[in-house]
Amino acid sequence: MTDDSSASRRPAASAPAGAGTLLQLLRDGTPRTRSELASLTGLARSTVTGRVEALLTSGLIAPSGETASTGGRPPATFAFNPSARIVLGADLGATHARLAVIDLAGTVLAEGDADLDIALGPETVLDWVVEGGRKLLDEAGRSEADLLGIGVGLPGPVEHSTGRAVNPPIMPGWDGFDVPEYVSRRIAVPVLVDNDVNIMALGEHFAAWPDSEHLLFIKAATGIGCGIIAGGRVYRGAQGAAGDMGHIKVAGAGEAHCRCGNTGCLEAVASGAAIAAKLTEQGVAARGSLDVVELARSGSVPALRGIRQAGRDIGEVLAGAVNFFNPSIIVIGGSLALAGDHLIAGVREVIYQRSLPLATRHLRIAAARTGETGGAIGAGVMVIEHARAPERVDALLR
Ligand SMILES: [Zn+2]
Repeated sequence: MTDDSSASRRPAASAPAGAGTLLQLLRDGTPRTRSELASLTGLARSTVTGRVEALLTSGLIAPSGETASTGGRPPATFAFNPSARIVLGADLGATHARLAVIDLAGTVLAEGDADLDIALGPETVLDWVVEGGRKLLDEAGRSEADLLGIGVGLPGPVEHSTGRAVNPPIMPGWDGFDVPEYVSRRIAVPVLVDNDVNIMALGEHFAAWPDSEHLLFIKAATGIGCGIIAGGRVYRGAQGAAGDMGHIKVAGAGEAHCRCGNTGCLEAVASGAAIAAKLTEQGVAARGSLDVVELARSGSVPALRGIRQAGRDIGEVLAGAVNFFNPSIIVIGGSLALAGDHLIAGVREVIYQRSLPLATRHLRIAAARTGETGGAIGAGVMVIEHARAPERVDALLR
């Protein structure tokens, strides 16, 4: 799972290094001179000069002044220019959708949202993305020509390589629909698609924990899913199904029936829907995860207990994942995490009890920081990460 991704992250000395390698070096924002770039990459000075010219023409880097020099004319320095291009990110949930226009540093330039039912079908929903996206570009004072691409997150299983949803349970009409083809016929840029949990993991990693190369993002809401960042990149698995932790068996679930057809799944006891059903049985009416959160916030003891126990159940599955994957951080997000520290306290309790000491020695378990816009930012980041891989960055030059 790490071979190709880790290899492509390093500027390989043996491969012909292009503008992409220079851009990777400059993306930290530090201004550098031509000779610094030459010595860092091992490229000939004349090659660096050519690549720098191409990057300057594209606007991706800009002159950033001159360095102090020991004598003579000080050498010019160059730095990454994140506002050169922009990206549109769309986070499409079951009943709510959010858009954000971001620059190459992930800064939000314009954003918008709407109540929009994913069950209206792909044409209606994607037309909204296109129209809303154009409005946000106007608002940000940018044109479609500046747009590097569009990232779309969907609330169901997605085959990332083709951008199609695969048997999504709550998305009638979307099964096999070619999202990139439909959107790029209206706005002619590359379109990438992934599931909502992966884009939230990307947004959280990019905006809040950029130095944590091995991160698990848990979305605990109506369902329960996990986005995996391995070696700094999203790990999707062979078929894109990696991280589907909601249907792993937990001891406390007994014979509880799950919507997947099995019994004893994590989702059958720890999802917002499952907690709401349990509360209703106990005489505390609740319809879904938002009701559960509302009850917990108003101090309902059964709701607080239910969320804490859900945290323990999620922790039971994560304790195994920690031993397998050895993440440096687990980020807990989704609507159930909005009810204060109860969910995360349950998760911590079980993980520190059950995982191996070496795996938990430096493990952090933290609440999500990107908030409601995290998914839309992550959808945009997916496009940026894709485009600035050294092997593809020439597409950025124009
Ligand atoms: Zn299940």
